[in-house]
Amino acid sequence: MNIIGHYINGRVVETSENFLDVDCPSTGAVESKLAMADRALVDEVITIAQRAQQDWRKTPPAKRAQIFAKFKVLVEDNAEKLCELIGKEHGKISHDAMGELIRGIENIEYAAGVPELLKGEFSKDVAGQIDSWSQFEPLGVVVGITPFNFPAMVPLWMYPMAIACGNSFILKPSERVPSAQLFLAQLLQQAGLPDGVFNVINGDKLVVDALLEDPRVEAVSFVGSTPIAHYVYQEAARYGKRCQALGGAKNHAIVMPDADLDNAVDQLIGAAFGSSGERCMALSVAVAVGDEVADAMIAKLTEQMSSIKVGHYAEKENSFGAVISQEHKQRIEEHITSSVEQGARLVVDGRNIEVAGCQEGYYVGATLIDNVTTEMTSYQAEIFGPVLQVIRVESMDQAVQIINDNLYGNGTCLFTRDGEAARYFSDEIKVGMVGINIPLPVPVAYHSFGGWKQSRFGDLCIYGPDAIRFYTDRKTITQRWPSSGVREGIKYSFPS
Ligand code: NAD
Repeated sequence: MNIIGHYINGRVVETSENFLDVDCPSTGAVESKLAMADRALVDEVITIAQRAQQDWRKTPPAKRAQIFAKFKVLVEDNAEKLCELIGKEHGKISHDAMGELIRGIENIEYAAGVPELLKGEFSKDVAGQIDSWSQFEPLGVVVGITPFNFPAMVPLWMYPMAIACGNSFILKPSERVPSAQLFLAQLLQQAGLPDGVFNVINGDKLVVDALLEDPRVEAVSFVGSTPIAHYVYQEAARYGKRCQALGGAKNHAIVMPDADLDNAVDQLIGAAFGSSGERCMALSVAVAVGDEVADAMIAKLTEQMSSIKVGHYAEKENSFGAVISQEHKQRIEEHITSSVEQGARLVVDGRNIEVAGCQEGYYVGATLIDNVTTEMTSYQAEIFGPVLQVIRVESMDQAVQIINDNLYGNGTCLFTRDGEAARYFSDEIKVGMVGINIPLPVPVAYHSFGGWKQSRFGDLCIYGPDAIRFYTDRKTITQRWPSSGVREGIKYSFPS
């Protein structure tokens, strides 16, 4: 049996008292055993990371940047292998895995520009012979806790920038998809990162709690479901740590009567069912303005959905793969069932699909549900599966109100040909990432990513310019070098 270890101080550590089965969602077979950490190991890793940071923080930013430039090339050279590791443990098909990897690489590129980003702010002559500047200093040991659905990209949102800013980093990846990060840690070491600056430690709540409680950990980046994001944010605050905690989502697309419907339907299908709907930016609700557009949209969706192929991650012709676990499959199917019980109309049913040769895999087919209302249990939940719910409204204002009343505020999209409607929507919508005819408006690496409401706890978004602020502390220095012989004398008033 393959053993997946931790990555500590520049080497793989496979010894453990406790191992967790890691399965392949495409087949349901247990493929590996994951070494799980205990509190003693967490303590040891923090000691190592803290020690390594002492030299690393003094390494010039340009030298740090060179390591990330090399890391980028190594990741690109090993992209196929990484996609295989992602697909096997997650179930996503290879070109989807490649997509997330490319978005992750963008963040490595951004980190390779860190000398420019860390230049600081300088004001000459704030008063006679006095200059003042702000410099941005690393925090120390920082931690990342990540979800299962983007095994490569989400951790890459965090540690390249954290490390490039001069911190050491401890990553606790999702215990369901640990292998990609174990391999990436080895590539980062090959790129020249000193031992102990980046460590990967596997575990569950026990490890997360130990990291949150330890006073030597200065900051926590978290991405996962809303209840856990809220918990991590509260615990981090209790222990006096800086925290950004990104949570779950329920993303709506409004389809206006003037939209290019063929294009909107293509985009909806990709964004609702791609990656089995297990994306925090997946479009899971289509709000159709008017019955005419709703009927036409559903007819086109139904027709197109008949050609969707669900199956094994390694088969390139598949549209999407398995969901993460048997329990998650059941939960998605229960939401489909409850929608029907509560009065919705099931147009395409993805329950009980059979995938030839993969009978034990965790598959749910693409599902379309019409006449959903905001009172339904399934609407109020983040289903996180290949399920598109349709809500019918009479006006754009009604659609905007539904989105603004929703608990989450991660992403949203408007399909229209009307610039005035687009501008109104962008201004009035209470959501962090907004698309106009763009179904998955995931910001590029030089902007920052973050939702509103229950989709994010903490002031700063993740990656991009906010990452510099999150992973550094501002120090402002005011300096005067008076000419020799000049004496100011005593002043009792506040300096002005
Ligand atoms: P999850 O919240 O179950 O797990 C996330 C991390 O928290 C994992 O590392 C896990 O080990 C840890 N964890 C789980 N339970 C814990 C507990 N009780 N105490 C402490 N730590 C715990 O999320 P998941 O199922 O792995 O991922 C899917 C969720 O992540 C979805 O809700 C999705 O919307 C969200 N997500 C959000 C974003 C975003 O940017 N907003 C991005 C990706 C995923």
